[in-house]
Formats: sequence, structure tokens, C-alpha cells
Amino acid sequence: MEIPVANVFVGEEEAKAVYDVVKSGWLSMGKKTKEFEERFAKVVGAKHGIAVNNGTSALHLALAAIGAKHGDEVILPSLTFISTANVVLYQNARPVLVECDPKTYNVTADIIEKAITKKTKAIIPVDMNGMPADYDEILEIAEKHSIPVIWDSAESLGAKYKGRIVGSIAPIHVFSFFPNKNITTGEGGMITTDNDELCEKMKVLRNQGQDNRYHHIVIGYNYRMTEVQAAIGIEQLKKLERVVVEKQRIANVYNKEFAETRHIWPPFVPNYVSQHAWYMYAVNVDGHRDEIVKKLKERGIDTRLSFPPIHIQPVYKEMFKFSENSLPVTYAAWSRLVNIPIWPGLDKARQQYVIDTLIDICE
Ligand SMILES: *Cc1c(COP(=O)(O)O)cnc(C)c1O
Repeated sequence: MEIPVANVFVGEEEAKAVYDVVKSGWLSMGKKTKEFEERFAKVVGAKHGIAVNNGTSALHLALAAIGAKHGDEVILPSLTFISTANVVLYQNARPVLVECDPKTYNVTADIIEKAITKKTKAIIPVDMNGMPADYDEILEIAEKHSIPVIWDSAESLGAKYKGRIVGSIAPIHVFSFFPNKNITTGEGGMITTDNDELCEKMKVLRNQGQDNRYHHIVIGYNYRMTEVQAAIGIEQLKKLERVVVEKQRIANVYNKEFAETRHIWPPFVPNYVSQHAWYMYAVNVDGHRDEIVKKLKERGIDTRLSFPPIHIQPVYKEMFKFSENSLPVTYAAWSRLVNIPIWPGLDKARQQYVIDTLIDICE
């Protein structure tokens, strides 16, 4: 038996949509991209959607539009994917890495507030593994200090916080459509906002800094989405709800089974989370993670470690002279977590095999 940790949920609909785009003869940013942007914004309840070539570009575009520059600080959790921090350095600003909560693994308002200085230009909270962080608390702190927020929602498409869908809660949300995310376009990203002015700025920056054809008013980028990506995205968006329902069903079974064990801690989901997006299902296996991962592999079960925290990445460690102990809560959390299989189509029998095997190894 070979059970992957994640799987893409694409089929005939996407294949046909791509065929039609190719036949149409218009391959980059056009009607399909506009349609995808509009449909996406509608699904998450935002006024604008700005489609780009990947999630990292989406983060960068948002930070560039806010005007982060040399001398500015940007607060973000260390427990995230590398691009959340890299885009800060793309702008020559300074990433201020902060801890996570030891129970939710998300950043909190208290942690952020302690890191705010006169130089803080932006805050980038992250919904780790698809679980919304405490939006109200964090947005209140940001508002109190008048600091813009770019929410890295790359992993939380389909999630809900206090009944509100992720994508229109913060002033700016950023999404990724990499193949392991809840919907995919191969590579792709989206920014959502209600702010007209920021939307215009981001659209200009996305398209080589042009406000009109070959009329460049700022130094921009080529972050355009292709029509092929957009066509796939339109079909994928129709499947989003099914993906989330299916992942929730799988998560429910895991939650119930692991609650009765002594060595496996299922994810803690606070009350303010009305829907987890279950990008990943991370269990805390305490002290023997690497051994457990190895034994699972031997028995045909694929796992993934969470992204190692930014502060232990060689390039950041060197640049800022970090050690594991620089952010001990984050390091300890990461070293105990392992992501186990969760994807639409993971059937009961195979899930039961994962459960039985993991419990057997841990006991
Ligand atoms: C996937 C991801 C990104 C970046 O997305 P890409 O589309 O791969 O560039 C950014 N932040 C987080 C938290 C992610 O999980």
C-alpha cells in the first residue's frame, strides 16, 4: 500500500477548459483571468480579486503596493513558508520574526503587539495549515497602531472565522494555487481586497508598471496570470466546497480516533474557527517525530514535515545570526508536528490503515 500525503483533485472539466483556451488563441491575461478574478472575489465576499502567477508574487505585490521599503519593519510569524519572509527582503525591508501560540501554532495579537515599533510598516499573519488565526484580535491591534495588514491566507481558502469566510475579513488577503493547496492552477495566486486604490496600484504593478499600454508610471513586475491557469481556476473554484467538506469528514475521523490515544495529539481548533480549511492535518507526536516518519514510510504512508521555521533556514540564520533558541516555542512546536494524509478521495479503508499504523507505531 502506498498512501500519498496529498493529491490533486483535477479531472475532465479542467482538461476541457484548457483545451478551449488553447484553441481560442489568447493565452495570457484576458477574459478568463477576469472571469476567474470576479468569481473568486464573489466566493470569498470581496470587492476585488487580482490574479497573479503564484502566491509569492501575490504577497510581494501586496507589500509593494503598501510601499514597504528599506528601513521599514514587517512583522510575521517564523512558522510559515519561506515566501512570507522573502517578499519582505525583496522590498529591502526587515522581517521581524515572531513566535506562535503553543496550542494553535498561529501568531496572536499579544505576540504581534510586543514586536511593534515606530518602524513597523506592515503585519503579515498566517493561517497555519488552513486554520484561521484570531482575526478580530489581530486586526484590532493593527488598527490601534494604524498598521496595514496583509493576511497570508495561502493555506486557508474555504475556511471560516466566526461564520465569516476567509478572503474578506482582513483589508488584504493573499492566496496560492500551488498543486497542494485547496484549489490549484498549477502555479497561481490571488489577492483580494475591498480597497479600490490598492487594487489599482496592484494591477499596475502586476503588469510592468503600466497604466496604459506601453506607458510605464512605476517600476513594476510581470506577475500576470495566464488564461490557461485562469481556466483551470474557474473549474477548480466550483469544486472548492466539495474539497473542504471531504477534508472535514476525514479530519473528523482522525480527531475522534486520536482523542483516545496517549501519544498523538490532534490539532486544537478554537471556538472562533467555524470552518478549518484543512490544508494539512498536523498531529503532534511529541518527542519521536523523525523515527515515526521513518516507520510510517516503511509501511507505505507518506507524510510531510511542516515548513521548518524561517529562523532556522540557513540563509536567514546566517543573515540575522539566529539559532534554534531564538524562537523556542516555534522550534519546539515544529519539531513535534507531522502532517498525515488528507485529500479528497482518501477512502475509509486507507484512512483506517493510516490510523491503525500510526497508533501502533506511537504506542
Ligand atoms: C503556499 C504558500 C505560499 C506561497 O505560494 P506559492 O504559490 O507557492 O508561491 C505562501 N505562504 C504560505 C503560508 C504558503 O503555504
